[in-house]
Amino acid sequence: MDNKCSICGGNLTDFGSRDLKDGIVCRYCVKKASPWLSDEDYLKKDVKAFRRHLEYREKNQKKVDSFEPQKTIEGKYSIYLNRNNGEFVISKRKDYKKDNADVLYYKDIKDISIIEEKDQTGNYNLLMQFRLKNKELDNVCFRVNEFPGLEKESKEYKSALDKAYEYLNGFDEEDGLVFVEV
Ligand SMILES: [Zn+2]
Repeated sequence: MDNKCSICGGNLTDFGSRDLKDGIVCRYCVKKASPWLSDEDYLKKDVKAFRRHLEYREKNQKKVDSFEPQKTIEGKYSIYLNRNNGEFVISKRKDYKKDNADVLYYKDIKDISIIEEKDQTGNYNLLMQFRLKNKELDNVCFRVNEFPGLEKESKEYKSALDKAYEYLNGFDEEDGLVFVEV
């Protein structure tokens, strides 16, 4: 395969490009995609599917431009909720409009979980996972604790757990199946 981006035809840089099922995406095109896509998500997409994803992202920009939260749960990642419109946004940065953060839908929520992940050193991270019925984005997962690798008895662990429950409690039960795994 030649060293051009399968999407825009631009030259590939040493870092930041991702492999697709049948091509490769340059770092600039990666930047336009949803930040929630994992390496596996890229590998599952072919060039056509990735183009469709970028079209979805362009439409998302218009949606996020007009999105206004009724309620915000702040944290390392903040969750912006608008129950009336059935929409929410999860973003690390305050300027989520500029970031083109994905507008997510309550109706797409399959479940929300708090996951405790043990790392190789025996320390812990708390992850918040949203599984979605959305073909462009079916999994949004982020770390709740600011710094990785917490001891279970530490106050940082406890405050991360409190924060995870605050996120979870931002959603009512009728918004979706809510699982809690700790
Ligand atoms: Zn490109």
